[in-house]
Amino acid sequence: MHVTQLRCSACPRRYSARELHHLCECGKPLLVDYDLRAAASRLTPGGLAGGEKSLWRYRELLPVEDAGNIVTLGEGFTPLLELRRLGGNLGLGNLYLKDESANPTGSFKARGMAVAVSMALELGVRALAVPSAGNAGGALAAYAASAGIEAHIFMPLDVPVANRIESMQYGARVTLVDGLITDCARAVREGVERFGWHDVSTLKEPYRLEGKKTMGYELAEQFQFRLPEVVLYPTGGGTGLIGMWKAFDEMEQMGWIDERRPRMYTVQAEGCAPIVRAFEAQRQEADEVVGAHTVAAGLRVPRAIGDFLMLEVLRGSRGGAVAVRDDEILAAVTEIAAAEGVFAAPEGAACLPALRRLIQTGTVRADDRVVMFNTGSGFKYLELFT
Ligand SMILES: *Cc1c(COP(=O)(O)O)cnc(C)c1O
Ligand SMILES: [Zn+2]
Repeated sequence: MHVTQLRCSACPRRYSARELHHLCECGKPLLVDYDLRAAASRLTPGGLAGGEKSLWRYRELLPVEDAGNIVTLGEGFTPLLELRRLGGNLGLGNLYLKDESANPTGSFKARGMAVAVSMALELGVRALAVPSAGNAGGALAAYAASAGIEAHIFMPLDVPVANRIESMQYGARVTLVDGLITDCARAVREGVERFGWHDVSTLKEPYRLEGKKTMGYELAEQFQFRLPEVVLYPTGGGTGLIGMWKAFDEMEQMGWIDERRPRMYTVQAEGCAPIVRAFEAQRQEADEVVGAHTVAAGLRVPRAIGDFLMLEVLRGSRGGAVAVRDDEILAAVTEIAAAEGVFAAPEGAACLPALRRLIQTGTVRADDRVVMFNTGSGFKYLELFT
């Protein structure tokens, strides 16, 4: 609602939001603009109390016009858990976990796909396609099933078993590709050209980002509109990072929060850390990683189309970027599970060794309010623990 236009994230071009668009002519992602004055007159922080217990509580800040097109499985409105035991061990007074494993299909990909599939329905799309290294495929398959739209999913052979099985159970056409995610992306492009599929790859359409931005709204709401000092986010394509930053901006323009922002930290795996390397080298864009490898499938993104936007967020927030090893990631899954009762995805667990490093270097202080994002469920990765 209240959408005014689609705007390029890199050049002055603008597009109509009532028709289907992918990337800008210049090849960069498009972002959704709103009439925030109109939205703010319809929704206030106080008015959220009685809202829906899903991300659709922020409906005024989401793009779907006709409520009949909303495809929902109860996504969003996830718990913010206080990690007393781990916080105590680390010497932090205020450590939290935003637990996205509580989403339908067990990961925060549900947020993006709920909004992208709703918009596909609204704009008359009949077939969707995505290359996926894991949870995106499962989430697309579930929302496409609920919408009654065809889904075509291309996954590398070594995708976690759970993602392959769930996608098939949801009735998607799943193709296993003997190659990397980049080879899967090529297969999707062919289908787009030959069969007119709608490509919902990360940031190649503007609405998954809108779904993911609701993490920023929830964070603000759960902290009574005084954002925490530090956010750690396991980063692949970066939609969550870019989306939350957009949400903070929108909230400031609506007068919901002030100009203060959390310091945003990207967490990646040593075997695939393009954003960390680019940040350290003070570059505006990231080089493609050759031979990317990590147990955290969602972080195995060798090249991200939104690299320049992520780097802007990290610099703009005075945050940073940390790479951690796979053995640290696996140990952190076990540590978080045993200490706090949350079986985190390896991607989410990667935040813990990264946080340790930031504490050691004095970057994170004892009185900072720190939020780690657990982006998915450890149940999707059982083969790593058997
Ligand atoms: C996809 C995924 C990520 C990376 O998310 P982005 O927002 O694309 O950076 C992290 N964790 C899990 C569990 C994922 O499925
Ligand atoms: Zn452009």
